[in-house]
Amino acid sequence: MICRHCGADLKLTMVDLGACPPSNSYLLPEELTAPEKWYPLQVMVCTECWLVQTADFVDREECFSARYAYFSSCSTSWVAHARCYTDSMIERFGLGETSRVLEVAANDGYLLQHFVNRGIPCYGIEPTESTAAVARQNGIEIVSLFFGLALARRLVHERGRVDLLTANNVFAHVPNINDFAAGIFEMLSPSGVATIEFPHVLQLIHKNYFDTIYHEHFSYLSLHSTRTILSAAGLEIFDIDELPTHGGSLRIYASRSDGVERTCSPRVGDFLNMEREAGLLDSAIYLSFPKRVEKVKNDLLAFLLQMKKESKSIAAYGAAAKGNTLLNYAGIRRDLLPFIVDRSPGKIGTFMPGSRIPILAESALRETKPQIILILPWNLREEVADQLAYTREWGAKLAVALPSLEIF
Ligand SMILES: [Zn+2]
Repeated sequence: MICRHCGADLKLTMVDLGACPPSNSYLLPEELTAPEKWYPLQVMVCTECWLVQTADFVDREECFSARYAYFSSCSTSWVAHARCYTDSMIERFGLGETSRVLEVAANDGYLLQHFVNRGIPCYGIEPTESTAAVARQNGIEIVSLFFGLALARRLVHERGRVDLLTANNVFAHVPNINDFAAGIFEMLSPSGVATIEFPHVLQLIHKNYFDTIYHEHFSYLSLHSTRTILSAAGLEIFDIDELPTHGGSLRIYASRSDGVERTCSPRVGDFLNMEREAGLLDSAIYLSFPKRVEKVKNDLLAFLLQMKKESKSIAAYGAAAKGNTLLNYAGIRRDLLPFIVDRSPGKIGTFMPGSRIPILAESALRETKPQIILILPWNLREEVADQLAYTREWGAKLAVALPSLEIF
């Protein structure tokens, strides 16, 4: 096994989560009589470039099947985040009606709609047909292919380079991260800017967010590793923002090193120092991780068994990919968690991969009035708690398993 960026041998294991099916391979009722493919899920660290990465990966066609059902617009806080981003980019980089904006992984158009509303020419790339179709219905132009150097060359030839390229929560999800970075370089005009958002690996480690580990999430990025990867592709990072999304993310700003010169914000150097001091360039921090992961699993299992002993009814909210990692790693099945509700129409009526727990519409909560509701997407905890305020009517308690078990 070699590093997907620098090709060095991978020797340092950060965590071994056993095996599970691809996180987004939700099962249709008729598929319950068939077997599922389980793949090992292990995270390794390259001690040369310090890229944290999954050891094994499945074919991406399988990971991003047409049924892949995450629609960004389902999260109101995420849509609001996108609007703030659009306003700030338009102002900072003086974007207008002659500018060109490209979003890679445009999903259902949750972000580009704000550029469309401001009259700025834009289009998106989104290989998942079900979400791309929604974006098109909303008047957003979508190219349904995987992004990389080959596609970038074609797009530059057909449409020209872009002034702003947005890549939110996709850089960590590509198997060939070098090719993706090369594609970004190719797409940018000499004065163009790419912004890339990704969950910061230090948050994952400090806050125990091991459920953000799944096969389709190939890399777990720091500023150090991202800078190394982008720099090899001819891109330079000139600024960063720290964001609260996904439990703590980074937005980096990059431009071509052969393009218009930009002054680098002191924030970049400060953040690199912080990462070094936090130990990201040393093995010890990674070696201490598995113990804390085990504790989350054991605490959750003990809690679910206790609830069963006390005959308390329980359900979960949010059939997210993270939920699949947690449930499969902890070996939780229907006997401990009878059902999960979700707002995505594409997921309702399907079953969680591996655990095979049924996914129902949110109305099932009102019908069954569970006493405990476990929120699986902890990163949307506040938003979900507001949304579930009505469950207090029957005295339901809410719970999260991460960063540590909490009932509130
Ligand atoms: Zn490496």
